[in-house]
Amino acid sequence: MHTLNFRQPRFAELPNTFYSSVAPEPLDSPYWIALNHDLAAELWPSANPMADLQSAENLAALSGCAEHYTPQPLATVYSGHQFGVYVPRLGDGRAILLGDAADSQGKLWEIQLKGAGKTPYSRFADGRAVLRSSIREYLCCEAMHGLGIPTTRALALTGSNNPVYREEVETAAVLTRIAPSFIRFGHFEYLFYTGREDELKLLADFVIRHHYPECTEADNPYLLLLEQIGRRTAQTVAAWQCTGFCHGVMNTDNMSVLGLTLDYGPFGFLDAYDRRHICNHSDREGRYAFNAQPYIAHWNMAALAQCFETLIPEAELNLLIEQWPTVFQTAYLKHMRLKLGLLAEQADDEELVADLFAALQGQQADFTLFFRHLSLLSNAHGDPLPSALSALFADGIPQQLALWLGRYRRRLRAENNEAEARAQRMNRTNPLYVLRNHLAEQAIALAKTGDYREIERLRRCLADPYRERAEFADFAGPAPAWAAEICVSCSS
Ligand code: AMP
Ligand code: MG
Repeated sequence: MHTLNFRQPRFAELPNTFYSSVAPEPLDSPYWIALNHDLAAELWPSANPMADLQSAENLAALSGCAEHYTPQPLATVYSGHQFGVYVPRLGDGRAILLGDAADSQGKLWEIQLKGAGKTPYSRFADGRAVLRSSIREYLCCEAMHGLGIPTTRALALTGSNNPVYREEVETAAVLTRIAPSFIRFGHFEYLFYTGREDELKLLADFVIRHHYPECTEADNPYLLLLEQIGRRTAQTVAAWQCTGFCHGVMNTDNMSVLGLTLDYGPFGFLDAYDRRHICNHSDREGRYAFNAQPYIAHWNMAALAQCFETLIPEAELNLLIEQWPTVFQTAYLKHMRLKLGLLAEQADDEELVADLFAALQGQQADFTLFFRHLSLLSNAHGDPLPSALSALFADGIPQQLALWLGRYRRRLRAENNEAEARAQRMNRTNPLYVLRNHLAEQAIALAKTGDYREIERLRRCLADPYRERAEFADFAGPAPAWAAEICVSCSS
C-alpha cells in the first residue's frame, strides 16, 4: 500500500515568525471526488498509484481527517495588495502545508490542503472551500499544465456533506495541491512592511537556495533573483494572453515567485474574444480585465521590487522595472509567432498581432477556435477561406479581418511557410479544448448529484488539449448561449 509520506517542509528551515503550526479540522465522513492518477504516475512511476493511492489512510490524510500528522502541518504568513490596496496581514487562511514529498527523481514538492479548516490567518472566514470552486481549481491546474503553462498542480479532491455557507448552503471539499513552492510576492511584502529586513534577506536566500540556485554566482544574487522572477512572470502572463486565460484576482498575494499560475478563483478562458473581458463578477471596475493583465503583472513586479530596496541599489531596481514591459513583449511575441505558425521574426510582427486582435474585437468570434481553425488556411491568394473559420462569424468574415488574412497569407508566402507543416505546428500551440466555464459547470452539476465521472473525463481531455479525440467532441464546441449567465465571483 502506497501511503503518502511527507517530510519536514523546507519552509520550516525559516524562523517560526514565518508560519504557525496548525492542525487540519476534520470533516464528517469524507469521500473521494477525484484522484489524479496521471500526476501520481508522473511523480512516482514505479508505484501503482491508481490502485495504491486510493487507501483509507490517504483519504483521511488528504481530507484533513487523519488523527496525527507528521511532520507538524503549518500555515504561512503573508500580506499583499488586494485590488491595489495594501492589506497588512493575509496568510494561508485556508491552506495548510502538510510537508514536502519527494518524487522518484528526488525533486521536492510542497503538499498543501486547501479547505481543511481555520488557521491563525483565516481572519473572519471559515477556512473551508466549497465543492464548486474546488472542482474548478482541480480541473484548471491540470488544464493549464496540459497547455504547457506554469501552474500549481492538483493531486486529489475529497469532499464531505458538511455544509459550508456562501451565498447559499454548499458542501465542503478539500483540494490537495502541490508545487515546488507556494511562496508568493506577498510573503516578501509582509516582511518588508513590518520592517523585518534581516528576515526578508533570509527569505530571499531561501528562495535562491531552493529554487534559483543559478543566482548564487551572480555579483548581486538578489538582482538576478528579481530578474528571474520577472522573466518567469512575463512568460506565464504572456502565455495567459496567448491562450485567452483570465486569472481574475491578480492581487500580489496570488503571484507566485516561481511564476506559477496560482490560486484559481473566478478565472475564465475567453469564449468570444473581447479584450476588455472581466471574468470576476466582483471586479466591477475591471482592474483585472483580460487586456489589463500584463499591466497588472508589471504593477505587481514593481510592488515586489520595492521590497528589495535594501538588497539592490535603487538605480538597478528602477532599470529592472523599466525594462520589464520589454521582457514581457518579447515573450508575448515569441508565443504569438508560434500561434500564427510563423517561421521568421520580423520588425512588424507586433503590428501584425495587434491588427489581428483589433480586427477580432467586437466580432463575437470564439478565441480558441479562431486560432485552431486558422491553421486550415491555405497560403494562396484568392483560395476560399476554411468553412470552419468562416462559421465562427455569424455575419461572415468582416472586411478588416479579410484584409488581415490577405496580409497574413502574403507573409506566409514570403517566408515559404509550407501550409501542411504549418498546420501541424499550429495545432501544437493552439488548443482545441480549454476549460470553458460551461464545461466546468456541467461537471459541477453532475458532481452535486454524486456523479464524479465528468470531472475525470474533462481532466483527461484537458491534459492533452492539442490532440483532437472523437470521445471529447462535446468539449470542443464554442460556449452555448446559457454560458453567458454563469456567474463566478471571489466567493468560493
Ligand atoms: P483569495 O482571494 O482566495 O486569494 O484569498 C485572500 C485571502 O483570504 C487569503 O489570505 C486567503 O487565505 C483568505 N481566505 C479566502 N477564503 C477564505 C476562507 N474561506 N477561510 C479562510 N480564509 C480565506
Ligand atoms: Mg489567494
